[in-house]
Order: sequence, then structure tokens, then C-alpha cells
Amino acid sequence: MAETSEATANIGVVGLAVMGSNLARNLASREGNTVAVYNRSPERTKLLTDEHPEAGFVASEKIEDFVASLTKPRTAIIMVQAGKGTDAVISQLADLFDEGDIIVDGGNALFTDTIRREEAITARGIHFVGTGISGGEEGALKGPSIMPGGSNESYVTLGPILESIAAIAEGEPCVTHVGTGGAGHFVKMIHNGIEYADMQLIAESYDLLTKIGGLSPAGAADVFTEWNSGDLESYLIEITAEVLKQVDAKTGKPFVDIVLDQAGSKGTGVWTVQNALDLGVPVGGIAEAVFARAVSSHPEQREAAQAVITSRPTPVEVGESFSDDVNAALYASKVVAYAQGFDAIIAGAEKYGWEINKGNIAKIWRGGCIIRAQFLNRIVEAYDNNPELKTLLADPYFASAVANGEAAWRRIVSTAALSGIPVPGFSSALSYYDSLASKRLPASLVQAQRDFFGAHTYKRVDREGTFHTLWSGDRSEIESEGSSH
Ligand code: NAP
Repeated sequence: MAETSEATANIGVVGLAVMGSNLARNLASREGNTVAVYNRSPERTKLLTDEHPEAGFVASEKIEDFVASLTKPRTAIIMVQAGKGTDAVISQLADLFDEGDIIVDGGNALFTDTIRREEAITARGIHFVGTGISGGEEGALKGPSIMPGGSNESYVTLGPILESIAAIAEGEPCVTHVGTGGAGHFVKMIHNGIEYADMQLIAESYDLLTKIGGLSPAGAADVFTEWNSGDLESYLIEITAEVLKQVDAKTGKPFVDIVLDQAGSKGTGVWTVQNALDLGVPVGGIAEAVFARAVSSHPEQREAAQAVITSRPTPVEVGESFSDDVNAALYASKVVAYAQGFDAIIAGAEKYGWEINKGNIAKIWRGGCIIRAQFLNRIVEAYDNNPELKTLLADPYFASAVANGEAAWRRIVSTAALSGIPVPGFSSALSYYDSLASKRLPASLVQAQRDFFGAHTYKRVDREGTFHTLWSGDRSEIESEGSSH
């Protein structure tokens, strides 16, 4: 390994577990890149360089040598354990880097940590770029979707390097400078939230097709395969068909039937919902997906409930067009989930002062990442047509696509309710749609109740101003100072 201080590498990777190793190999495979590598434990570095001599890595055992092997402006991508590991490596690099050098965190950091880190590092004259990288191990190796934040200046150096390794969709690399500061990790967080919602909606579709539609998992696989050649074409639909086709070698049963029905999570869905709550953005589709995993993971509660809830509805009889109805409900609910995700991006951008091009975000999700889908092209078009769109549901294409499937969507939600099949994703999406579509919401009553018990005031439909009714007095109305709250 290198002990000299000759600078030959235009890019470095710190952290050579599976993600870092694959990203380093991806970088090394692209023309023009010479890749320096470093890992805290040198065994990992040796393993990578021994297994991949073709990559021509510039390997170092000491971080000082790693830094010395980088050409200026030094650019290093950190791929270590999120949290303390990331902080430790940032601190080591910052002590050795000079003004104008670039530290990139490619791990799954919470965007508020990224904002904190960027402020601390840029105060020392060094660039810090929090970068969302989606696509898992395979994406890191073959081409991920990349969501960098950080300064415009750092993107001049970093952009071409990231473009060289990103997935390509419709001839364009799946990377864009999302925005400054923590914008990249914020958008990656929302991506993961949308992924939760998409997976939940697909899982509900499978449940309906098998429990009401009477299909076997293999039969449902055929339906998903067919859907994958239409509007729903996506990686998640494709892998769903693969999973449902799989037969367990030990028992001969469908694989999905031998998997315990308790879904785990790593927390990015929770982060999305927590932050959406703070931003005041309804992301019901994502929240329901997070909650559905939580419900599934409490077997003791399910058992206790099942001990007393012994009578269950008989599934409603359905006809041949049932799977078409499920398809329409899935598509419409998916539009809602994405609309909510983009609302969260817009609200985050506003709060944190980021300029985020929504169409470009949809573009870079078309390849490399888990939610890659044809559907994203429609979102690109929607924001191209109207960058100020208030909601994706107001885009003419989506409005008419959802309206076309609306009757089927309602049939599915009501059939599921009558049959006792939980569809939290479908039903919350439909309620959200109906909320947006309603001329009047019962929020009028909620606000009146708030005025009753807490003098929170209200506005009237027929006059300007803010009012309070003297509920415990003569119930006359007084004009109140300030706005209703
Ligand atoms: P990981 O298991 O999260 O972390 C292991 C790596 O972190 C090792 O290289 C380890 O070094 C290093 N490390 C931990 N603490 C350290 C410290 N205090 N100082 C220096 N190095 C330290 O690795 P991973 O699974 O490859 O993931 C890397 C990053 O990518 C993580 O942030 C993870 O969340 C993210 N990730 C993203 C995706 C995706 O799809 N985007 C998927 C998986 C992971 P040693 O070898 O010395 O222990």
C-alpha cells in the first residue's frame, strides 16, 4: 500500500464495507478516474485491492497517506457507518484537508446532521457535500441514483465524477445538484419515504388479489408481470412478480407464504414522517406504510385481538375485472403517494432555503434507485408544463388518469372494507383525494370546537377578520385582534 505522498488520484473513497467497495469499483471502472481507497481496518482495503487488481486502486493504510494521494482539490467520498463513524471520519479528513478541498458524505445521514456538519466544515474553508445514494449494493457498483447537496462551487468538481458513475435513464445520468446544504440527504429521505408507500400499496394489491380475487401467489405473479408492461412498469412491480413466483425449496410452498409477516425498517420512513409532521405536510400514504410495518411487528397485539375478534367477514365475491380494479386503485393511490412526497420536498425547500427543481428530482429517480419507474416520466412532464404546480393531482394528465380509475378505486376500498381486508394505503389515499376534491371540509366544525374550549378564534366565510364567540357568556360574537390560530 502507498506510503509515498505522490498525488495521483482524482477521487478517494473512505470506508470499504460493501457500499464503499462497490462505489470505489464503479468509480475505477470509468475512464478518467484514478481512485484512492482507505478503510480504518486495513484488512478490508487489502481484500478489495487483492480481489480487484484491475481497478488500479491507490491504497493507503494511513489516512495521512490517503489524503496525500489525492490531487487538488482533494475530493473524498465517505461511505462509513452513519452517525458516529461518519463524524469521526469527517473530523480526521477535515484536519488534513486544505481550503477548497471537498468532503462528501455518501452514507444515509439524517439531513439535519448534514446541515450541522456542513456549517462546521465550511467554516474551516472546506466544502462538505451530503449526498444521497440510492440503489443498494448493486446500484453502488453498476450505477446508483445520486442526490448531492452542498455548494455550487463543489459541484463543479464533484458533478462530472458523480455523473461518470450514476445510472443512466433515457440517456441522462441519474444525478443532479439537488440544492445546497442538506438538500441531497433530505431528498434521499423523501425518496425512501415514497419507497415505503409504493411497497405498501403493492403489498395491499397482492393481499386483495389473493384473499378476495382468489389467486395463488403464482397467479398474482402473472398479474404483476402483466402490469409491468403498462403504466405501472417499475422495478418494484418487477421484483414483486419475481418474489411471488419463488417456491421455497425446503417446503415446496410459495416463498411468500413461509416468510413471517412482520416487516422491519431502518428508519428513513420514520424520518420522512417526522419531518413532514414538523413541516405540516400531510404524507398519509408514507405514514400509513410506516404504521403498517409497525402493526405487523406487534404479534402480541395481533394475537390478543384475534383471541376476541373471532367473527370475520366473508370476502365479497368479485368478477373477472377485479384485477383491473386493483390496478386502477394502485395507480391512483401511487399518484397520491408521490404527490405527497413532492409536497414534502417543496415544503422542505421552502423552510431550509433550497432551490430544488422538482422535475430534475423525478428525472434522477428514473434509474438506479428502488422507485425507478416509467411513471416518473409523467412527473417530469407535469413539472415541465408547470413548475409551480400546487399538487401533482392538479396536473391535467394525472387528474384525468386518476379520474378514469376513480370508480374502480372506490369499488376496491369498499370491497376491501366489506371483506375485512386492511388497505390503509389505498383508503388513506382515497380520503386524501376526497379531501382535496371537497368544496367544504368539516374543519369548520373543528375550528368552531377549538374556539369553544380554547378561544382559538375563527375566520368567517362572509367577512374579513378574526372572530371569537363568547361561548360561556351570551354567545355573541366579538372581533378578535390578530389572526386565528
Ligand atoms: P456499514 O456497515 O454501515 O459501515 C461499515 C464501515 O464503516 C466500515 O468500513 C467501517 O470500518 C466503517 N466505520 C465504522 N465506524 C467507523 C469509525 N468510527 N471510523 C472509521 N470507520 C468506521 O457499511 P455499508 O453497509 O457499506 O454502508 C456504508 C454507508 O452507506 C452507511 O452510511 C449506510 O447507511 C449507507 N448505505 C446505503 C445504502 C443505499 O442503498 N444507499 C445501502 C446500504 C448502506 P471498519 O472496517 O474499520 O470497521
